[in-house]
Amino acid sequence: MPAIKFRGVDFLDFDSLLSDDERLVRDTARKFIEDNLIPIIEECNRAGRFPRELVKPMGELGFFGANLKGYNCAGMSNVEYGLVTQELERGDSGVRSFVSVQSALVMYPIYTFGSDEQKNTWLPALQSGEKLGCFGLTEPDFGSNPGGMRTRARKVGKEYVLNGEKMWITSGTIADVAVIWAKVEDEDDKVRGFLVETDRPGFKADDIHGKWSLRASVTSGLSLQDVHVPECNLLPKSGGLKSPLMCLNQARYGIAWGAIGAAMSCYDCALQYSLLRKQFRDQPIASHQLVQQKLTWMINEITKAQLLVLQVGRLKDAGKVQHQHISMAKRNNVWMALECARLSRDILGANGVADDYPIMRHLMNLESVKTYEGTHDIHTLIIGQSVTGIDAF
Ligand SMILES: Cc1cc2nc3c(=O)[nH]c(=O)nc-3n(C[C@H](O)[C@H](O)[C@H](O)COP(=O)(O)OP(=O)(O)OC[C@H]3O[C@@H](n4cnc5c(N)ncnc54)[C@H](O)[C@@H]3O)c2cc1C
Repeated sequence: MPAIKFRGVDFLDFDSLLSDDERLVRDTARKFIEDNLIPIIEECNRAGRFPRELVKPMGELGFFGANLKGYNCAGMSNVEYGLVTQELERGDSGVRSFVSVQSALVMYPIYTFGSDEQKNTWLPALQSGEKLGCFGLTEPDFGSNPGGMRTRARKVGKEYVLNGEKMWITSGTIADVAVIWAKVEDEDDKVRGFLVETDRPGFKADDIHGKWSLRASVTSGLSLQDVHVPECNLLPKSGGLKSPLMCLNQARYGIAWGAIGAAMSCYDCALQYSLLRKQFRDQPIASHQLVQQKLTWMINEITKAQLLVLQVGRLKDAGKVQHQHISMAKRNNVWMALECARLSRDILGANGVADDYPIMRHLMNLESVKTYEGTHDIHTLIIGQSVTGIDAF
């Protein structure tokens, strides 16, 4: 079976809802991924290699901190930024994860909670990809409930001393700076963010091996043992668990678009395969009702997901989005994409498990995407809390 080239997925003239600028941004990102990531991604996935050679070109295209203004950032709208993450994840969820972390979880907190000096020092360098960052919230014993974190910061003279462990940290071993969330002992254990340069004594990062998901993305454990940072490394406007949750909201928004990209890739591959593959009476498998049912389910759900996330993006651009809107988009779209990956895998039969096709890679990646940035079930509880007013966590 020949390599299958992507043609875009648009059942309901979704493109007519986008502006010329939005389509241009989407098409530029699509071409970049087609030319640069698709040819190498299966090799990266097999080798468990992050394609670092793409960092600089992605920076030049304005992918990092794309929806931030100033500091050389592209100043894209939220819909444009979402379309970029869709195209990135059409390539690979791991590469999209890298961009989400750099943008929404490292640049956004510096932009939102940082001092002018922190912004001037870090944002241009992170935007170009000259410097890389990671976001340390999750700990070995606290994932869905980050409020239980054990990492502590203690004020000693004009410094803070940090101690703790972080786990499942994207880009941990390749980062120059880590945004570390810790409880500050002198402030009643209030959660605050710190910029920790990763070459400071006492800071250690180790890669997590044996991952069957997001293999083209680096995932690490961090250890901080008596790491001293000057007091100017505290993110001054951070305060309380709300601060990291605001960052997660930014990232979840990008994920909701990204998942559509992964679903499109799987659907497009399964559709083309089903038209070429023949079984019984020399008929393409696409002619069988049960195969058509799967394709119909997928295009139906992809189309609904596109409309959902576009509305969330328009609300975000208008400054009206609420966190439960983003939870709905993340929850629905990642679930939808995972189901599309499973159905597409099935349509390809045995070929579906081989990496001649992108489906199994997307399927395995999406298992992580379902879990990180608030699991599917945690988003169920966020939406449930929003509609009932009752906290069921
Ligand atoms: C590849 C990868 C990259 C990641 N990158 C980062 C990163 O860069 N930075 C970072 O800080 N973290 C990162 N994470 C961590 C991620 O955010 C956590 O894994 C996630 O928050 C879930 O936490 P957990 O794995 O500890 O699961 P747990 O919180 O232990 O949850 C396990 C199960 O219990 C369920 N559950 C928990 N509480 C409830 C409840 N109250 N009601 C019902 N069900 C519940 C969950 O839905 C889930 O099904 C990453 C994870 C992965 C896999």
